Amino acid sequence: MAKTIQAIRGMNDCLPQDTPLWQWLEATVRRVLASYGYQEIRMPIVESTPLFKRAIGEVTDVVEKEMFTFDDRDDESLTLRPEGTAGCVRAGIEHGLLYNQEQRLWYMGPMFRYERPQKGRYRQFHQIGVEVFGIAQAEIDAELILLTARLWKALGIAEHVSLQLNSIGSLEARNHYRQALVDFLQNHLDILDEDSKRRLTTNPLRILDSKNEKIQAVLNHAPKLHDYLDEDSKQHFARLCQILDQMGIRYEINQKLVRGLDYYNKTVFEWVTTALGAQGTVCGGGRYDGLVEQLGGHATSGVGFAMGVERLILLVQEVNQDLLLPQAVDVYIVHSGEAATLLAFDVAEQLRSTYPQKNVMLHCSAGNFKKQFKRADKSGARFAIVIGEEEVQNQQLVIKDLQGHHQQQQLPIEQAFAFLASHWNK
Ligand code: ATP
Ligand code: MG
Repeated sequence: MAKTIQAIRGMNDCLPQDTPLWQWLEATVRRVLASYGYQEIRMPIVESTPLFKRAIGEVTDVVEKEMFTFDDRDDESLTLRPEGTAGCVRAGIEHGLLYNQEQRLWYMGPMFRYERPQKGRYRQFHQIGVEVFGIAQAEIDAELILLTARLWKALGIAEHVSLQLNSIGSLEARNHYRQALVDFLQNHLDILDEDSKRRLTTNPLRILDSKNEKIQAVLNHAPKLHDYLDEDSKQHFARLCQILDQMGIRYEINQKLVRGLDYYNKTVFEWVTTALGAQGTVCGGGRYDGLVEQLGGHATSGVGFAMGVERLILLVQEVNQDLLLPQAVDVYIVHSGEAATLLAFDVAEQLRSTYPQKNVMLHCSAGNFKKQFKRADKSGARFAIVIGEEEVQNQQLVIKDLQGHHQQQQLPIEQAFAFLASHWNK
């Protein structure tokens, strides 16, 4: 036998046993997003490398060490998208969707980051992202958070996620704070680890979410971000909190929440869970009012978030175990003899026309009835239709309840259809 070739490390297949859950989750998300009037946008998976460098920031983890970048045959540097916001803004500018308009958009699809694969962290993973353009008010930040809260309910995970909220202010305010933080940390160089020392010159705010306990202890005495916020950001944040309070959304204000990408300002938030170990953030987002201009468009407000589909799937599997997913097959048709086979094809096609929402599987390989019934059982179908010579002669169908709730029925074809219709779900 030839040597087998395996999937790339950190890039997973989604097997048939898992796709029903994915499809259910995706359908639930689509429904919730549509119920808020959001529209889908689809972007390419590959973009030119400078897009991500400019949007995400040169000294972020994503750009420094996580991107899948390669030269194409014309020596142009291309990158497999590590996130969706940059491409979405690029598309919005390119197609004139952003100037003087409001857009509420979403997308879903694979993202790529060269990280160490582990539970909840992969090299190809999937995000569902939402981006809103052209609305500067805190009302839209609140809407996005309400939308996610509704989604957690629909997915049955609301009790297992909590909201962390922060304002990181304007770029200018953040620069003032950055300086104060660097000055403070310069006096504590002895406790900083290598990573944090490096960040002190590149991206000092990221030190705030260091996992190192000693650093965290010292940071408790560091200058506080909110003491440096500009008036506009303060009001924006107060308004957001006010709406969330009135709408009964619980949150924790976490002044150390800064997020990994450079483009955020004002609101940032994360939905986190303790049910998945270290990979606890299922959804993160915030406001990025400078990004459209930074990528060459007219100044346009932006706010959005992305959720990690694999982590949501893991969480649903962990906490929502009595979830009932639709069956792949509702009825399996077994048959024996040439005339019976032809009738079986006919019945299968008629059933599919009459009940387009139901899944009808026709046995297509060889095998006696015993073997065919084994297949029927394996398919998970609730009912089997049995067609032999006798049924052809009488133009009748035998219906067998594979879960044994009903007696076997032998009925004329029309009545057999009616029986199925009234018993599918019982
Ligand atoms: P983390 O802190 O876990 O690395 P992040 O801040 O890098 O997350 P974002 O860029 O905000 O993540 O992406 C939004 C969401 O996408 C994350 O909250 C997470 O659910 C998911 N995500 C990010 N990276 C991965 C990955 N490598 N594998 C699976 N899901 C991921
Ligand atoms: Mg990351």
